Amino acid sequence: MSQRFYSTNSPGRFVDTKEAVLRSLPADNGLYMPENIERLGQEFWADWRNLSLADIGVHVSKAIFRESVPADELEKIARESANFPAPLITVKEREHVLELFHGPTLAFKDFGARFMARLMGWLTRDDDGLLTVLVATSGDTGGAVASAFHGVPGTRVVILYPKGKVSGLQEKQLTTLGENITALEIEGTFDDCQRLVKSAFLKREMSEKLNLTSANSINISRLVPQSFYYFEAAKNLPEGVKPTFVIPSGNFGNLTAGLLAEKLGLKVEHFVAATNRNDVVPEYLREGEYRPRPSVATISNAMDVGAPSNFSRMKHIFGAEWESMKARVAGFSYGDKVTRETIRRIKSETGYTLEPHGAVGWLAAEAWRESNPDAHTVVLETAHPSKFLDVMEEELGKGETVIPERLACLADRKKVAIQMEAAEETFHNWLEKFTS
Ligand SMILES: *Cc1c(COP(=O)(O)O)cnc(C)c1O
Repeated sequence: MSQRFYSTNSPGRFVDTKEAVLRSLPADNGLYMPENIERLGQEFWADWRNLSLADIGVHVSKAIFRESVPADELEKIARESANFPAPLITVKEREHVLELFHGPTLAFKDFGARFMARLMGWLTRDDDGLLTVLVATSGDTGGAVASAFHGVPGTRVVILYPKGKVSGLQEKQLTTLGENITALEIEGTFDDCQRLVKSAFLKREMSEKLNLTSANSINISRLVPQSFYYFEAAKNLPEGVKPTFVIPSGNFGNLTAGLLAEKLGLKVEHFVAATNRNDVVPEYLREGEYRPRPSVATISNAMDVGAPSNFSRMKHIFGAEWESMKARVAGFSYGDKVTRETIRRIKSETGYTLEPHGAVGWLAAEAWRESNPDAHTVVLETAHPSKFLDVMEEELGKGETVIPERLACLADRKKVAIQMEAAEETFHNWLEKFTS
């Protein structure tokens, strides 16, 4: 059987895998969900604790995409997107951290971006011309997407980033790959970059002619591989122990992937959503009112989201019932000051280094344990500390944070970027020429 996808806003209408993955966003502003999500089969559960992360990925991918992608292709895509480890570290008794930052750009977004890139490459293999992926970035996403698509046949990526507003090493991640990756340094803000990307898609004729697609985080193909590591964490806990997952959240894609893992049959004790001051979801869980609003800047900036895009998927999964979501998902939020204190405290108490996003998660895990002292909490550590070097040096001192070689070596590479004003016409004209 093939998989079909529907929009959360019109559950009776279906599209195929190619449309869901290349369109990313349905025209009705909902988000795509797979029609069939069933418990994984007995052949998986019989021996799942002995499977590797990549093996788990193969089972999960086949359960979601079914026959819409040939099994051998899907297996290749899954293995290449989970070709780095996700170790579970026990920091204190029953207090675990799942390290998701061992990929090429040191962020959990590598899992999703690598899967999406390879799946898009396969889906467009017989199309005329190249697929052009547009992505606006405030830092992390662009790096993961660029690295993921680098060298994928039939694809090219155009990254728009705001001049002077991403960190030095982040900029190098965007501007030093070359080949099928092109960086535009926009004289404006991240919002300008996003506006330019949107404007290209809104010109339907141009967008179809130029074969444009987007790589944003609501793409269903980024969600699926993010469910692999929930199984990976659970299999490394003592047999019979059900994990409580604590997820530092911004757009809530990671948490939604956890809910997907549960739908595929993984036994989970509870989900805990951890946010910084951008606390729209914890507030909703507390009060039952959803009030999206402009984001505020924090030190855990990958979670500075005021209108989380995956919230509509979460609501859909829980049948739009506040009580149902509240029964499965707890929410906590923390400010920068206590987050900084936690980085210092956990380092001195345990020797373990948390970065700002993981520290927000750690605090939420501690809060949860107050009323659930027997819980095995698994905090998802979403990035490597060296990506937030300023904060780490302020809290732990200089020289304490090791920069992994694959990031450090970028410092000597030459930046290549095209300068551009933040004007739609300029961007569209450039894009027409670039793709012709
Ligand atoms: C993107 C990101 C998050 C937030 O993940 P969501 O899936 O958007 O909730 C958290 N931490 C880091 C380091 C990230 O890059």
